Amino acid sequence: MGSDIQPEQVFKGIAASPGVAHGKVYLFVPKELEIPGTPVEKGGEEREVERFEKKLMETRQQVLKLQKEVAERLGEDEARIFDAHLLVLEDRALIEETIREMRESGRNITYCFHQVAQRYIDAFAHIDDEYLRERANDIRDVSKRMLHNLVGDTQYGLARLVSERVIVARDISPSDTANIEKGRVLALITDAGSKTSHAVIMARSIQVPAVVGMRNITKLLSNGDDILVDGYDGQVVVNPSEKTLFRYGKLQEEKRSLEKKILSQIRRTTKTRDGATISLMANIEGAGEAERIRRYGAEGVGLFRTEYLFLNAPEFPSEEEQYEAYKKVAEEMAPDPVIIRTLDLGGDKFPNSLYRTDTEANPFLGLRAIRLCLENTELFKTQLRAILRASVGGNIKLMYPMISGAGELDRANGILQEARGELDQKKIAYDNSMPVGAMIEIPSAAVTADILARKCDFFSIGTNDLIQYLLAIDRINERIAHLYEPTHPAVLRMIQTIVQAAHRENIRVGLCGEIAGDPVLVPIFLGLGVDELSIVASGLPAIKYMLRNIDFADMKELTDEVLKQEDPKAIFATAEAFYKKHVSHLIA
Ligand code: PEP
Ligand code: MG
Repeated sequence: MGSDIQPEQVFKGIAASPGVAHGKVYLFVPKELEIPGTPVEKGGEEREVERFEKKLMETRQQVLKLQKEVAERLGEDEARIFDAHLLVLEDRALIEETIREMRESGRNITYCFHQVAQRYIDAFAHIDDEYLRERANDIRDVSKRMLHNLVGDTQYGLARLVSERVIVARDISPSDTANIEKGRVLALITDAGSKTSHAVIMARSIQVPAVVGMRNITKLLSNGDDILVDGYDGQVVVNPSEKTLFRYGKLQEEKRSLEKKILSQIRRTTKTRDGATISLMANIEGAGEAERIRRYGAEGVGLFRTEYLFLNAPEFPSEEEQYEAYKKVAEEMAPDPVIIRTLDLGGDKFPNSLYRTDTEANPFLGLRAIRLCLENTELFKTQLRAILRASVGGNIKLMYPMISGAGELDRANGILQEARGELDQKKIAYDNSMPVGAMIEIPSAAVTADILARKCDFFSIGTNDLIQYLLAIDRINERIAHLYEPTHPAVLRMIQTIVQAAHRENIRVGLCGEIAGDPVLVPIFLGLGVDELSIVASGLPAIKYMLRNIDFADMKELTDEVLKQEDPKAIFATAEAFYKKHVSHLIA
């Protein structure tokens, strides 16, 4: 389809990152490197091994640099993608196999690495497990980088892009996306891909519109074609007419003025029109996220998932390393609060350093979170000492996950007391009045919330788990995902029970599950009396804007109404009608 043929054509894909862009196509279809299997000259094997090790180091340095840049630009969450790449480069089995193959076949190391990596990719690609299949992509991505280094071509991929273009590709790897300089890429379109692929998450983070799942658009387009990308609706218009451009121009204008309106209120406190205040906090997974979440108007950290410091690390982080991480966040957020949740390992989160051979039949009902910590008291106490020490430098609150009842809470507090005693002995300072709270995410804790409230300084409701345990719906099983209903009356009643128990003891209640960021459901939670919401930072501006422009009394009325209803779908419909009447004109 050359641009000399002018009719407008519309293609439909999956909307993956919002926004509209118009520009010229840059077709990014990298050719496979040709790697001939030339023999190594006699006696040259050791030099080949040396060269290989050197290139492994170089590639590692590049990935580390990329990871650092991505962490600074997009946050630690996105940067974690490259941990898997680093693991591949350190994989002794792959390295030794390559060297052995070179010695046995007599062919050059680049060729042998290519062969061995390809065997690994094929093996992983055929495993019947989505997580392991994803590893095939990691190996493909990083081995491509390594091969380019081995053949001496370092300027590959999108690093060559010099002017502003719409990138059209079969697929894009995280490395490719990380190479993208925001100013140079107007939008991304790919043949393959789903909404949740890493590359798309990164496109969203750098706020570049993206449409994926276009099947074979790379075959239909040529470099320089005129194209319009609609990342809201997942449409791609080739050779857009004046009329189309005008229509999209207006849409963009409207969206921009809405964004401006929303962002203009980001620094204000979250107060409804009739004066109710709500704290809007962010969930984080790493130590370097304070600046980023502040940009989104976070009024504190409502949930620091500390287990991510342990995942992918070759060994458990020491007390000192943990202390530095907690202190950094606390100092950067001060005087705003940072709720540090103690380790929630187990379930679907296992660090490499806790590699287990004994698999559990029901890991979400197994040795997870506080249970695991109460069985590994040294691991737990190390973390508690690190948190206590960091509490001097900021407004830290400590929170235990998966508390099922008062006994467990007492035992956790007993160990906390031991940790305090150990610091006292060494005359190390800590904040003796650091608040200590519990996540309420197991039905037994919710039902006994009145007892727990007397022993806690605050609660945070973890609806991700509370819903799975209350409704018996595995939170990661897509076959029953349609049964995971936050508007089930049992869920609403349970939240109400928790809030009432907490307020009777004058303690505050937060809600930190994913649904705390859903503008359709938020009015119900606030109507039920939840004091704080903690969500993914990028969702905060819209929620803040919405709350500043509606009345608490209306949310309360909605809640009273839905508490009388019995069907989850009907409750959702009522909430949606409220959203349409009071909210959608504000933020949609
Ligand atoms: C929850 O369960 O709602 C929660 C916030 O914790 P996580 O998602 O880490 O289990
Ligand atoms: Mg949880």
